[in-house]
Amino acid sequence: MSDRAFLEWPFFGDDHRPLADDLESWCAANLTGDEPADLDEHCRALVGALGAGGWLRHCVPDEAGRLDVRSLCLIRETLARHSGLADFAFAMQGLGSGAISLFGTDEQKSAYLPAVARGEKIAAFALTEPKSGSDVAAMETTAEERDGGFVVDGAKTYISNGGIADFYVLFARTGEGPGSKGISAFIVDADTPGLDDSERIEVIAPHPLATLRFTGMRLPASALLGERGRGFAHAMATLDVFRTTVGAAALGFARRALDEATKRALERRLGTGTLADNPITQSKLAEMVLDVETSALLVYRAAWLRDVPGRRNSREAALAKLHATDSAQSVIDKAVQMFGGLGVTRGVAVERLYREIRALRIYEGASEVQKVVIARAHLAEYRA
Ligand SMILES: Cc1cc2nc3c(=O)[nH]c(=O)nc-3n(C[C@H](O)[C@H](O)[C@H](O)COP(=O)(O)OP(=O)(O)OC[C@H]3O[C@@H](n4cnc5c(N)ncnc54)[C@H](O)[C@@H]3O)c2cc1C
Repeated sequence: MSDRAFLEWPFFGDDHRPLADDLESWCAANLTGDEPADLDEHCRALVGALGAGGWLRHCVPDEAGRLDVRSLCLIRETLARHSGLADFAFAMQGLGSGAISLFGTDEQKSAYLPAVARGEKIAAFALTEPKSGSDVAAMETTAEERDGGFVVDGAKTYISNGGIADFYVLFARTGEGPGSKGISAFIVDADTPGLDDSERIEVIAPHPLATLRFTGMRLPASALLGERGRGFAHAMATLDVFRTTVGAAALGFARRALDEATKRALERRLGTGTLADNPITQSKLAEMVLDVETSALLVYRAAWLRDVPGRRNSREAALAKLHATDSAQSVIDKAVQMFGGLGVTRGVAVERLYREIRALRIYEGASEVQKVVIARAHLAEYRA
């Protein structure tokens, strides 16, 4: 049982409540366990199922050209509560195609976005390099203009959906200026000669993840996405939309951990009562509830700010991601503790959540990077 009262908050419109209810029923009917025998096949099937269920259409702009961040957050929160891999499959369709939604030409949009929404093309976002993760502007992969197109050399790493994606949105140095000023974005089909996406990376919560290598990879001029030399800004604008949704996924993991821990505390005998009768347990539960509620407020405030007043929400998205991911780690750790030995046993939900939450504090801007964004915005108000 998970708290649904937040759906009455004024951040939501009339469409959001049925969306959350319908997805809840869909998850109960369609999602199975998260320890598949064949990870790639399972993830492909999840993308197909999410597409067939109509959920992936929220990853691409609606008829009015809008991405509704509150819907993205509600969907990620709900999926993450049921299955980390379903959330992953959903999130990457949005992040991987996000720069096309925001900056693509009409031809690029129609070539990719309908297929992404149907779950027929798997998307990926290729920004990180072996020598530049948080410091995106230091990237070294080059896209040199030659013969009316571009030739790409270099490598990207930690690319989610690497190896199963049908296309990658790639960021590479085109040399218009130094650092962040000389980067452009490209759309790269996975079967492009000169791209090797076969080197996999294994992580504590398995999902398809790879290093990509580019050797003399030729791209036509039409592969350029958005404005030449504005790739850094395009990447940041894409992350601005999806950063809040990482907070939403963390919130979903935290809600699941709180639910599991509460049920366990109520049934586990301790002395003459249960674990739930113990004041130390109650104090833990109170802290977990506080963490979940504050995360939800920050996540949906950030999403609302972008959707309704339509304001840039970098500060609020950073607050939401920082707090929701850090506090979900703490909620899940408390849940594991309340489960005792069972909490670290393979196959138990809180053990899986314990592994799943960790990367969210690192990717799409590590917690420290969010603190930089928040402090800069705060100081700018005083310096203005
Ligand atoms: C599971 C997973 C999935 C990923 N998926 C993708 C993907 O799909 N596409 C993609 O492009 N990348 C992806 N990444 C990469 C991810 O975005 C990077 O790992 C992240 O940006 C951090 O970069 P790094 O690993 O190089 O760490 P570094 O940049 O070396 O940073 C190491 C640590 O230094 C600290 N730090 C960093 N910056 C600062 C700062 N300004 N001030 C103080 N401390 C700081 C942080 O604690 C950080 O964790 C993924 C990573 C993981 C783990």
